[in-house]
Amino acid sequence: MNFIKEINRRRTFGIISHPDAGKTTLTEKLLLFGGAIQEAGAVKSNKIKKGATSDFMEIERQRGISVATSVLAFEYNGIKINILDTPGHKDFAEDTFRTLTAVDSVIVVIDVAKGVEEQTEKLVEVCRMRNIPMIVFINKMDREGKDAFDLLDEIEQKLGLRVVPLSFPIGMGYDFKGIYNIWEKNLDLFSGDSRKDIEETIEINDLTSPELDKLIGEKAAQTLRDEIELVDGIYPQFNKEEYLNGELQPVFFGSALNNFGVRELLDCFVEIAPKPRPKNSEQRLVRPDEDKFTGFVFKIHANMDPNHRNRLAFIKVVSGEFKRNTQYLHVRHNKKLKFSSPNAFFAEKKEIVDISYPGDIVGLQDTGNFKIGDTLTEGEILNYKGVPSFSPEHFRYINNADPLKSKQLNKGIDQLMDEGVAQLFTLELNGRKVIGTVGALQYEVIQYRLEHEYGAKCIYENLNVYKASWIETDDKKSEEYNEFLRVKQRFLAKDKRGQLVFLADSPFSLQMTQQKYKNIKFHSTSEFD
Ligand code: GDP
Repeated sequence: MNFIKEINRRRTFGIISHPDAGKTTLTEKLLLFGGAIQEAGAVKSNKIKKGATSDFMEIERQRGISVATSVLAFEYNGIKINILDTPGHKDFAEDTFRTLTAVDSVIVVIDVAKGVEEQTEKLVEVCRMRNIPMIVFINKMDREGKDAFDLLDEIEQKLGLRVVPLSFPIGMGYDFKGIYNIWEKNLDLFSGDSRKDIEETIEINDLTSPELDKLIGEKAAQTLRDEIELVDGIYPQFNKEEYLNGELQPVFFGSALNNFGVRELLDCFVEIAPKPRPKNSEQRLVRPDEDKFTGFVFKIHANMDPNHRNRLAFIKVVSGEFKRNTQYLHVRHNKKLKFSSPNAFFAEKKEIVDISYPGDIVGLQDTGNFKIGDTLTEGEILNYKGVPSFSPEHFRYINNADPLKSKQLNKGIDQLMDEGVAQLFTLELNGRKVIGTVGALQYEVIQYRLEHEYGAKCIYENLNVYKASWIETDDKKSEEYNEFLRVKQRFLAKDKRGQLVFLADSPFSLQMTQQKYKNIKFHSTSEFD
């Protein structure tokens, strides 16, 4: 019974946004509500600042922060909330994509002045593909920004969402008076000039009440009435089922910095956000309330101390209870492993725990056994789906710069790829190694880490590749497929899992090749069944 209760009270989610929209500030305010931290400034931003590209100390510092903020857990009204950190910097987008395989829902933060930005578009698309329930928080209402209806339109069009506002701003910027909470039918008003506190929450069950005119002035009251009427007319009714299926996205307005609209967001979140959801494996759908433990690795973090090669593997518990000092099957290695000091994460610390439940994240000390996507079970052969690779945007040959250290280089490359820092492709023609990344910054990170953690030196060499496509065919013996292998050999490589990949050098050549070999499928991610 206790087991089911523990599952039902967990909410595991991620906050996604374009850098600077206010993700860190919002996270911090949520933690303050949960009493998990005492003061603002306790949550460190995981941002890599512009211009820090070649500043390795900055990269190292970021890695430290990134461990510290990987999972932030706190309790609110009896609910255990796990926030999974998602790097905002685009060069680390893949890290974020992988983290999204471990969340049960997300909150999307949008800057009211900037509207929908590039990074938001990409991340929301991934969530939409996976039907992840999303709540939108429009932030910085204390500043001048876009008109609320225009912004809602933009969100629908650019992000392909079906929105339903559950709160609505009264004024904006200098005239920002507060928020009408459609969900709870009450008003939160900004106090005086300081704009730092919520004056009080006022129940307003009837917007036509003259009370409203007294509170915010006749003009603002009339505008609010008109706008809410419009909201009722344009947008669908909120429906929890549709939200949970990823078909409808509630929207809140507020100002994270001023702690405005955040409690409303949190209260609604704990009421509607999904508890741990069932997860598909290659073999079957696994329910959280199953007796037996299963979980998968979605993130690996190298130890900050270069003298210790230990790493921390982050496991999402999908079903059953994960217990300390218990043997579990590492499915890919077909090997039993036992963990004496699994870590659980809290707002400002990590602690060894005896037992973790579905929805929780456990950090396991690892000496190189784990790869992203690995599954742990009590003995069942099970492989969790949903940790795909996306085509990198940059490709470079990686060459050994110190012939005496080739063993170290290979080991380093191997381990960094397991961590998911970048993708490795091995050319079919000559066995040369190619590193694919989402952003140029990763090449510097890899070079730096190879040298400092593995004592190996590498140099890069440019390679003209436009995109990687994962190849699938129904018939490996067909004439067409064999001709493709022969003619295109120069452009073929194997990824780390041994899957065949076509490295097109231009959009044109990709298109021509696809047209010529009609029975071969060219996938843009490594997962396609
Ligand atoms: P992140 O990159 O998404 O994590 O963004 P941050 O939380 O670091 O916020 C970026 C900047 O916006 C910081 O200077 C914040 O102080 C500021 N900021 C965040 N929320 C608000 C808000 O509600 N109003 C205003 N005016 N500024 C905000």
